[in-house]
Amino acid sequence: MFEYFLIVSILMGLITGSFTNVMIYRIPEKKSLWYPPSACGNCGTGIKWYDNIPVLSYLILKGKCRNCGSGISIQYPLVELLCGILYAVMYLVFGLNLDLLFMAVISIILVAISMIDIKTMTIPNGLVIALFITGILYSGTRLLFPDMFSQTMMWFEPLIGFFAASLLLLLVAVLSKGGMGGGDIKLMAAAGIFLGWKGVLLALVSGSLLGAVISIILIIAGKKGRKDMIPFGPFLCVGIMFAALFATTVLDWYIGLFTR
Ligand SMILES: [Zn+2]
Repeated sequence: MFEYFLIVSILMGLITGSFTNVMIYRIPEKKSLWYPPSACGNCGTGIKWYDNIPVLSYLILKGKCRNCGSGISIQYPLVELLCGILYAVMYLVFGLNLDLLFMAVISIILVAISMIDIKTMTIPNGLVIALFITGILYSGTRLLFPDMFSQTMMWFEPLIGFFAASLLLLLVAVLSKGGMGGGDIKLMAAAGIFLGWKGVLLALVSGSLLGAVISIILIIAGKKGRKDMIPFGPFLCVGIMFAALFATTVLDWYIGLFTR
């Protein structure tokens, strides 16, 4: 049964990854997510269902439109693959429970936010609101039915979580006079609702560390200058995902260091 559900998780990830691609392309252009159906960006021909199978269709078509032969971005299969891997990891960590269900929604919102932030240097408000609502439903359900989740939560944790990282970032924004985007602050407020204050602080610390390391590597490699803007959102999203999956493990280990 374990293998069966693992494969189902991967397949669900690949399929929602396909929808995540639609979000990434249409939300910045303020287009509807539901209509019209997907079409080739070059010739406008509608994409048939058999050419819209996650990852597989890209490989069969060798990355080209069946009608006009123009190139399809490698981003499509990569995002689908990423979502497939995320769903598999989430199933391995959570097992079959409501955590898996809520994180299935949250993870694709985070992937969409990251990709859009990389492309446009902004985090769309609509996606932050979606994260906010999912976060309230997640924490609310967890408080009402703790048995259906992998761990319990105190009622005040989402409340403090909402402010914990976002107020720190707001302070950075004020002190640096605009060096921190409003989108990042709102993102961490929404994430705090389902991560709680410990989780969201772990997300902030791990995301910032990752961002610092990657930025230094990019500057040393000559890909970015010291003054270039590097979007912070994707690193925060990785931090949020990391905290959602491993906060309990990491925090237990950290507390263990001091109580030995
Ligand atoms: Zn075409």
